[in-house]
Amino acid sequence: AFLNALGPQGGNLPNEKLNSSGAAQLPEGLGSALAAGQVGIVQCDRTWAILWCNEAAQSLLSPQGSKITGRNLHEWMRPSEKLKPMSDFRELLLPDRTSTYAILSISETADGFVAQLAPADHIGKRLTRLAYHESTWRHAIEAAGHGVWDYNANNQAQFYSTGWKRLRGIPSDAEFEDDYDKWIARLHPEDRDHVVEQVRRHNTGEANEFSFEYRERHAAGHYVWILASGRAVEWDSTGHPTRLIGSDIDITALKVEEQQRADEMKQLHQAHVLDLERAHQQSELARQIANQLARQDPLTALPNRRVFSDEIARLMPSENNGHPFAVLLVDLDHFKPVNDLYGHVTGDLIIRTSAERLLEIVGNSGTIARLGGDEFGVIIEADANRLSTLAEALANKIIAAVSQPISIGGFQVEIGASVGIALYPEHGADPTCLFRNADMALYDVKQAGRGRVRFYALSMGQKAEEKAVLESSTRSAVTNEEISPHFQPIIDLRTNKIVALEVLARWTSKTLGSVPPDRFISIIDQYNLMPQFTLSMLRQTCAAAKTWPEATPFSINLTSKEVCDLSTPIRMLEVLAQHDLPATRLKIEVTEQALMQDLFTAKQVIGAFRNAGVQVMLDDFGAGYAGLGYLRELKFDSIKIDRSFVMTLLRQEESAKIVWIMQTLADTLGLKTVAEGIEDQKTLDAIQSIGCNYGQGYHFSRPVPLADVPSLFLNAPLASRKVA
Ligand code: C2E
Ligand code: CA
Ligand code: CA
Repeated sequence: AFLNALGPQGGNLPNEKLNSSGAAQLPEGLGSALAAGQVGIVQCDRTWAILWCNEAAQSLLSPQGSKITGRNLHEWMRPSEKLKPMSDFRELLLPDRTSTYAILSISETADGFVAQLAPADHIGKRLTRLAYHESTWRHAIEAAGHGVWDYNANNQAQFYSTGWKRLRGIPSDAEFEDDYDKWIARLHPEDRDHVVEQVRRHNTGEANEFSFEYRERHAAGHYVWILASGRAVEWDSTGHPTRLIGSDIDITALKVEEQQRADEMKQLHQAHVLDLERAHQQSELARQIANQLARQDPLTALPNRRVFSDEIARLMPSENNGHPFAVLLVDLDHFKPVNDLYGHVTGDLIIRTSAERLLEIVGNSGTIARLGGDEFGVIIEADANRLSTLAEALANKIIAAVSQPISIGGFQVEIGASVGIALYPEHGADPTCLFRNADMALYDVKQAGRGRVRFYALSMGQKAEEKAVLESSTRSAVTNEEISPHFQPIIDLRTNKIVALEVLARWTSKTLGSVPPDRFISIIDQYNLMPQFTLSMLRQTCAAAKTWPEATPFSINLTSKEVCDLSTPIRMLEVLAQHDLPATRLKIEVTEQALMQDLFTAKQVIGAFRNAGVQVMLDDFGAGYAGLGYLRELKFDSIKIDRSFVMTLLRQEESAKIVWIMQTLADTLGLKTVAEGIEDQKTLDAIQSIGCNYGQGYHFSRPVPLADVPSLFLNAPLASRKVA
């Protein structure tokens, strides 16, 4: 059949040449074909230059008749293809561009190659084999269900696998004809340009293969996603593909999933972005508020301590060339008791009013800040030679302004201010040091009596150090019970007898010497050691009190923390019980100031003491800010008229009037009075004429140590004591 397929033309075979080249081994059956002259024979050298050809080859490769010898056989090959010895067919590009030739076989000879050619249509047997291969291949494809297509423009042959048809909703047995335009028309409009471009790139040879995703309309009307890939397998002489094969894969499910995931991601992302935006807005707002709060005092709207510190730091460059400036620390005097007495609303009003006055005075000439509580800070800059004068003048103006009465709801409140000043650079080269020194100056002026201005001085640093030493010594003194009770008698002014002994703490430190209670009591209180300390005083007193004649009571001073602590009576009464002493031996002294802290609890504590039989005395009466309210609110046994009135009784008429009023008040309320601070006979006389019940003072006795108590009772006439 193969031989029959080769036409009637013949050719000359130069046997001797072939023989001489040693290429006599022709493929099976080819000898007859050669005889029939249908098979072209080309002899080439090692470079594939044609040395010789038969007529059939000449007419096949150059129908116009130009000689092909001397030309290179590669001219008929696609540029990318390289010839080599082989036994299968290869395509050649023909000059007439209409059909493809096949090289049936190329054999290597000693000095070159011999190629045998036949027109494709006439390859006969070989093509049959190829068709067989192809059909086998197609069976395999069908079995696998792949979407495969094969399009041959030369003979319009089209092949579409069942899988390919199924993908598009075409019945597998349907005859289906397609072309490029019809195909393009089925594409999703959005994908067309992209597909056309991909096809163009392939067909022009820019790309060897194509592979792209696109959507094609299904017979049912919807679109399916296809991953198309393929390549040309045959080309015409211009290099234009004439036969293409390819495979399509249905990626709709993947795409849908991908899309869903993308949508989800997008939604998530959008939600996230929204959340983020919202969170950002909120945090931005919070940041602004926080920033403002962090830098502004909410009560006065003045800058706060942080701004103040920043400002000091800003004015203090790292190099030592900053302008001189002064740091003024302003602290309100008597603010705390007023705040305690009138309540926080009034306290806030006082702070705000003071802030306004400060603003009025300082204006734009400096920075003002509220540093916390009742403390303000001012910074002013000036030339070195004027700075201290200006700072002092400003401080005095501030004190004057703040000391003006403040009217609150119909009554007037008077507070004052103290100012401590530190100058840059002489009082501190770094912000912390400068601030601390200004604070030290303030502390110093407060200690010295308030209402004044003071510049930092080196000695203040020493004072601060001393204070630290005192604090630590005091603490260890409490722990080691170095502090002992002294006793000062309280005398019945009618009988001249000792009616009680006031317990007054005395401490002689090994290192500091004698330290007055005014200094260490506040430290003990500050470090919350008061309960421990009071119980120690009480125990030491109880141990001795048993031997005192006539079961003389003793009075113990309590601080505000103790008066406002419900456990105080229990603890103290327990000590008495341990010493087998009745509660009536104990008296307590509380100040008005102590009651102010927490009147409600104080009332309960005092009630508990009195229920147990402990007498309660209101100490330092008149020295505080309290009104008569306390006398109505709380039940006392006696009031101790503050020694400041008693000691000035003879010199100041006012004092005498006040003491007289206090006495009248006590009489009216059925209370006893104790006049403190009686230092001499004349004062005692005056006190007696006013009618005070009891007296206490150096005139009778100074506070004495435990060992001397018995002698107080023996030496009947204490000092110049005499019966009224
Ligand atoms: P206070 O309760 O008013 O005690 C009376 C103070 O007046 C005592 O001062 C006493 O020595 C002093 N004094 C008595 N008579 C005269 C006098 O004729 N002239 C003058 N100028 N002063 C006189 P002291 O002992 O220095 O105590 C001062 C303050 O320390 C006491 O004032 C009291 O508040 C507190 N204190 C003393 N000991 C204790 C204590 O054990 N516990 C508590 N919580 N406070 C105590
Ligand atoms: Ca007292
Ligand atoms: Ca007192």
